[in-house]
Amino acid sequence: MTPVCQMCGTALPETGGCEACGAVRGTPHTPPETRWLLVGVRCRFTCKACGFDSPLDSLDGSGSAVCLKCGLHQVFDVTHWNALLPGLHAIPDLAGPKPEGSRSDPHWSIAPTGFADLRQTRAVVALSQGRLQIEAGPGHPLCETCREPVEIVIEKPGEVNTLCPGCGDAATYASKPADFKVPVVGAIGPEHRVDRAQARQESDGFLCGSCGAPLQVDGRGRLVRCGYCQAVSRIRVEQLQGLATPPPPDLWWLVFEGPSEKRRQLLREIGGEEDDQSIEDAEHDRPSALDHVVRIAVTGVAIAVGAALVLPLWFLVW
Ligand SMILES: [Zn+2]
Ligand SMILES: [Zn+2]
Ligand SMILES: [Zn+2]
Ligand SMILES: [Zn+2]
Repeated sequence: MTPVCQMCGTALPETGGCEACGAVRGTPHTPPETRWLLVGVRCRFTCKACGFDSPLDSLDGSGSAVCLKCGLHQVFDVTHWNALLPGLHAIPDLAGPKPEGSRSDPHWSIAPTGFADLRQTRAVVALSQGRLQIEAGPGHPLCETCREPVEIVIEKPGEVNTLCPGCGDAATYASKPADFKVPVVGAIGPEHRVDRAQARQESDGFLCGSCGAPLQVDGRGRLVRCGYCQAVSRIRVEQLQGLATPPPPDLWWLVFEGPSEKRRQLLREIGGEEDDQSIEDAEHDRPSALDHVVRIAVTGVAIAVGAALVLPLWFLVW
């Protein structure tokens, strides 16, 4: 796996610091192998009333958004997301420096496509559609507590569980991928986190969602630990209206599964022979942790039962 920034988890280019957060190159993390395609995003939308580029820190299919500068709740067209999600899916799928992107099968070479420079000379791509602007880069989400790369478990679309191998912190994130046309399976970020209480908001500040003690909130972090009871409260982005300086967009993550539409298109252009079946076959060949367990179990059973049973059945079929 390509090394990622020790501060934000975005993949690092071969030389230099992090393009996403500006951190100088420290000791990069090496994230665990994963079957999920992960892209870190920072999103803004341009307010219809005041023109401010306000943070959009979640994958929201509700069709509305609120400007953090003027407070206007406004219609936000979900088709903007539908237009950009295919490009966001392609980023972790096709990013180099390996000539085949995220796959290890040389059959999949994307070398002539121009995507190979992602991670080689640059790590962040800018995309925009209508009033939505996104900076996106491949990488791996880090633990919000200790900044180790987390293990990711998704058993059903829209529900992402993470576990930190460093400090043991577990987190649950919910989203509604069915609202979108692209095979996004989840989102990871403070706005999506559902296992922490939301901070209470009073006219003079924020209170711990657990014990009610005052919290120090500066808008930079969306998860704030209470100095009194140590519980972590979540600050929703819409609670950050009215700060003297509106906060910058947060870095959060989209999770995709399987080959991107862009990969399918490139394979058709490059090879001329690739079809959906070979993509499905290669997809099927990718080992996942579960496949591995199943394979060991099947091998164990086959050995236990023995060829004596397998062979007669085989002849019976023929
Ligand atoms: Zn960074
Ligand atoms: Zn505004
Ligand atoms: Zn941790
Ligand atoms: Zn507290």
